[in-house]
Amino acid sequence: MPPRTALVAVSKTQPVEVIRKAYAAGQRAFGESRPQALRDKASKLPADIEWHFIGHLQSNKIKLVVGLAHTIHSADSKKLLVELNKEAERQQCTQRCLLQVHVAQEETKYGFTPGELRALAAAGFLAQLPCLQIAGLMGMATFTNDTEQIRREFRTLKNLYTELKQTYFSTAAAFCELSMGMSNDYSIAVAEGSTIVRIGKALFED
Ligand SMILES: *Cc1c(COP(=O)(O)O)cnc(C)c1O
Repeated sequence: MPPRTALVAVSKTQPVEVIRKAYAAGQRAFGESRPQALRDKASKLPADIEWHFIGHLQSNKIKLVVGLAHTIHSADSKKLLVELNKEAERQQCTQRCLLQVHVAQEETKYGFTPGELRALAAAGFLAQLPCLQIAGLMGMATFTNDTEQIRREFRTLKNLYTELKQTYFSTAAAFCELSMGMSNDYSIAVAEGSTIVRIGKALFED
């Protein structure tokens, strides 16, 4: 049996009533990509929803997300990590985060390159964020019909995850998540070892 994969229902384009229906059907983990929308929706919906923040996060919006998001999937720069840690310290909480890695061919996608992440880890930087719980990696594959390219990109991400886990997080049980897979590529992601898929369109629009 492959390990179980968790589903984050990406509700970023959905109104509160639709989220409420999915909640009534038993779904608890939802994904939002805008801080203000996360805030608004969370204030209207049951408190036991697990909110996942999956969008690019600007510095001036950090305080809307820290402490509210169960997991921030999009920690995508050194500067952002420093600021997230600072805000979590201010709120006296521990914020669970995933490191977003750029593995796609597209230039528009945010994230660390594998090389940047290796360098940060080797420099000890990732161990100097006491108010963040670094829980793994997140990545997006290129939007393409070339399934072999998608597979290669997910495999690159999985290999980096395994390398970092073995080298820097071997005693950190919390480093256990590989967030990869969206509507058009989740079956490949699951086959390549994803632990969390983030699915919007295929859930809400089909
Ligand atoms: C929108 C989004 C998703 C969901 O994409 P779908 O194609 O609707 O499944 C997943 N991850 C991120 C980071 C997103 O922005």
